[in-house]
Amino acid sequence: MTQDNRGAVNHRLKWIGISMLLISLTIGCGWGIYKLPAPLVDRMLKVDIFKQAELWKRRVVLHLEDPESALKTGVIDAHDAEFLAAMPEASDVYRFKLLDSNGRVTWSTRPTEVGSVENRDFFRSDVARGMIHYIREVVPLSEIDGLDLHTDNILNATQHHVAEVFMPVAKNGRFIGAIEFFTDISDLRTTFISRLRISLTVLSGIALLALVAVSFASYRANRLQLRALQKQSAKERDLMEDQLRLAREVRLLGELNEWLQSSRSLDELFDMVSRFMTHILPEAEGSVYVYSNSRNVLDGCASWNGGTHKAHIHPEGCWGLRRGRTYEYGAFEIDFICEHAEPHDGRPYFCFPILAHGETVGLLHLRALEGTDEAFHTSKKLAQLSAEQISMAIANVRMRDQLHDQSVRDPLTGLFNRRHMLETLRKSINRSQHTGAPLSLIAVDVDHFKKFNDTHGHDAGDMVLRAVGAALEQGCDRDEVACRIGGEEFMLILPDNTSDDAITRAEQLRQAVEAVSVRYGEKSLPRITISVGVSHYPAHGTMPQDLMRAADDALYAAKDKGRNQVQVAGSGSDAQQISQLKKPIKAVGGKSTA
Ligand code: GH3
Ligand code: MG
Ligand code: MG
Repeated sequence: MTQDNRGAVNHRLKWIGISMLLISLTIGCGWGIYKLPAPLVDRMLKVDIFKQAELWKRRVVLHLEDPESALKTGVIDAHDAEFLAAMPEASDVYRFKLLDSNGRVTWSTRPTEVGSVENRDFFRSDVARGMIHYIREVVPLSEIDGLDLHTDNILNATQHHVAEVFMPVAKNGRFIGAIEFFTDISDLRTTFISRLRISLTVLSGIALLALVAVSFASYRANRLQLRALQKQSAKERDLMEDQLRLAREVRLLGELNEWLQSSRSLDELFDMVSRFMTHILPEAEGSVYVYSNSRNVLDGCASWNGGTHKAHIHPEGCWGLRRGRTYEYGAFEIDFICEHAEPHDGRPYFCFPILAHGETVGLLHLRALEGTDEAFHTSKKLAQLSAEQISMAIANVRMRDQLHDQSVRDPLTGLFNRRHMLETLRKSINRSQHTGAPLSLIAVDVDHFKKFNDTHGHDAGDMVLRAVGAALEQGCDRDEVACRIGGEEFMLILPDNTSDDAITRAEQLRQAVEAVSVRYGEKSLPRITISVGVSHYPAHGTMPQDLMRAADDALYAAKDKGRNQVQVAGSGSDAQQISQLKKPIKAVGGKSTA
């Protein structure tokens, strides 16, 4: 269970507790309101009746001619009798008795009771000692005398609460008897109880309302606090998730960078990009394009995560490349679809131009996978960083390629240089040693080039050398390598060429160079010719130097024979053999231009 859920459960339990408490209080108040008023009212009435009884006693004692005798004997004169008989009408007393000091009833509003004796203990223990005795009891309706005097609604009840008060009468500090008063307190009692109940109900109601209000306010405050806590914890959780995601992205970007920096070729680099991008941006499929050498199209190099790439795309068909900055499709109200993104199904995509040293070298295209639009848009920054890493890596690979090219290429003709030729020849010999495949070497030297230079100038000579280089390169097949080994001298390594193949190829090259026409300013330069020497592995040597020397010797033999021709090396280097070998070539060789 999460902290939020625990908080919510605690809050609910608290609220249930408060509700239970309120319900208990309500029940308790109801019970109290029902039960409490009666004893309270009875106590109040007792005090009240005490005071009343004191007055009644005083009235009786003051009116009686001889109270002591009246109490003792019950014998009274007519005036007293009249007064006593009128007493119930003039007070709340419905019955009263005079008792002597022994508890014998000497006079009563109920004459039948005269002569009876009050022998309950309290009379001797309390009343006889001057203490008022109060008894409240419930009696049937028939017990109430003179009901017509006290008529009201309450009296219609079958049971009545009555107060019976024994008032001791003393003379000179001596107990001489008592007067017992009966008064019906049902009416008062019921009225007081009702009023008290109403008051208690109102007070309880107010108290309960106040409690409910306080509880509700505290509940609201708690709820708000809980909500704030939940919001806070959700925020913290989001923040932590963001930080974790960021840390992962930074780590992946770092790894990507490290791998990309160690890539040796663009192919290797794009392979790494494909693998990493699937992890870095799992919500996007992607592809990468790089400008072709001609720069009129971009070649599709790699794609990943279900994406595809076209073989070629046109730079003007991409809004990212055209505007020279990131293009985000699907983020704005009005969008245009790039040509290379067709056919398009409405999913958002990014086009990041890939820049290397300020120059646009390619395009990183990312498209949201189905149903990941939101995650895709939020990944823009990361995608941008990835594009920058890829850009830097491409720039590095390109720079490394350029440096490597500079170290192995001849700047004038663009052909490989002598160093690279030696390296390649060594590898080719090794290969042939292992596979037994044939290998031939062709040495080329421009005829009378010094004279050409002297006549037409060094620049014209350079142009011719470039044209010769191009002709030789064009004459090479896939694994064949043309090199300029110095001045106006060239060499070609022809793997998988037998001696006969090489002789044919050499003759074709000779003819190709002879056909070269170079324009220099307004005029066309005179055509030049080459002399060619051919050597073959292993017949003419198993070491690079031996093969080169054999080809050179054949070349010099060709010079000797009058130039503009092909000569093949002999098993030794004697001219005899070379001149013999020259025969079949004669059929295809041209005449010397010397
Ligand atoms: P051959 O037919 O016997 O080879 O005569 P050649 O004049 O070609 O031979 P030589 O070795 O006497 O002269 C080579 C000339 O090539 C010398 C130099 O003027 C020229 N040369 C060498 N390197 C360059 C270069 O890079 N540019 C130009 N324009 N000329 C070059
Ligand atoms: Mg030369
Ligand atoms: Mg020459």
